[in-house]
Amino acid sequence: MRRSYRREDPQGKGGLVFVTAETVRLLGLALLLALTVAGCDDPEPRYGSGPASFLELDAEISETEALDLQQAVGFLDQHRIDASQNRWFTTVFGDSDSGVLEPFLQDRVRFVLSQKTDVSSRVRVQSGMLYQEQDSGRGATNLATLWFVKKSLEPRGVWFELNSRVLAIDSTRVGLVQLGPAFHQVPALVQAGVLLHEARHSDCTGGVLRSDLDRWMQGQDPVRKTCAHLHVPCPAGHIYEGIYACDSEPWGAYSMNLLYFLAIREDCPQCTDEERVLADAASLDAASRLLFSAEAMLAGSLGAPDMSHSTEVLEQ
Ligand SMILES: [Zn+2]
Repeated sequence: MRRSYRREDPQGKGGLVFVTAETVRLLGLALLLALTVAGCDDPEPRYGSGPASFLELDAEISETEALDLQQAVGFLDQHRIDASQNRWFTTVFGDSDSGVLEPFLQDRVRFVLSQKTDVSSRVRVQSGMLYQEQDSGRGATNLATLWFVKKSLEPRGVWFELNSRVLAIDSTRVGLVQLGPAFHQVPALVQAGVLLHEARHSDCTGGVLRSDLDRWMQGQDPVRKTCAHLHVPCPAGHIYEGIYACDSEPWGAYSMNLLYFLAIREDCPQCTDEERVLADAASLDAASRLLFSAEAMLAGSLGAPDMSHSTEVLEQ
C-alpha cells in the first residue's frame, strides 16, 4: 500500500482535535490549577471497576498517559450536568445516571493507545501494510477511518493488533483512540472535551458513499463528511487557517466539545467558578471551528443532532 489510511495526518484532517499553543494560552495558565490528578495509585492497564471500566488501555500506554486519562474520565464522572434546561445535552450524550460516560463514550471509545505507539506497525492488511505518520500538537486521534480502508480493500482483511490480540475493524465504532502529545498539556476539563470529541468521530451517520471510499483511498477529501464526522480546512483568516481543524456540518466532533463546555458553564451546579471560566474560553475555541452559526445550531434551526450510526456503504 502506498498510502496512509489517513494521508491527511500532516495537515490535521479528520478524526482529531487540535489543542494548539494558542488554545493553551487562551485558556490561561492560572486555570491549569484545574489540573488535579485524582489519586496517585499505579495505573492499571484497565479501569477495573471504576467509572470507565469499558476502556482498555494498550500495553504501551505510559503511567503519565494513564493518569491523564484517569483525570479526564474522573472529570466527566464527577462533574454531573443538570440537563433539565439544556435542549440538546440529553439527545447527544444520553440521560443515564453515569452522565456522558455511558452510553455515549462507552459506545464510541473502547481502546486507548499511547502517543508513542507506531500505529502503522499495528495495522494488519492481508498481503499488504498501511502506514500512518505520527504528528504533534494533537489532543488525540480517532482511528475510525481504518474502516474506510477495510471497506475499500474487501475482501482483503484489515485488523488492528492490541494487547496480544487482533481487533476486527468492523465499523467506525471500533473505538480506537490514540492520545496525542497535547493531551498531557491541557486541563482535565479540556481532556474530557477531547474524549467526547473523539467519540463523535466513531459515528458514521447515514453511512458512507462508495465514491467517498474511493476518494479517500486516492488521497482526496470525501464529499460527505458525516461518516466519521471528518473535518475540513479552516478558512483564510481563521486562527487555524488551512488546517483540518474546522467542521462544515452541525453536530460534528467540535459541536460535542461546544455542547459539553457550554453545559459545564451553564448547567453544572457543582462546578467551580474557575471551571466555568475555563469552560467559557474552551467553548469560544470550539465555536470558532464551526463554519456555520453555532447559535443557529443550538437554537435548532439547523436540525436536531442525529446520533445514529451506520455501516452501510451507499453505491453512489
Ligand atoms: Zn476531530
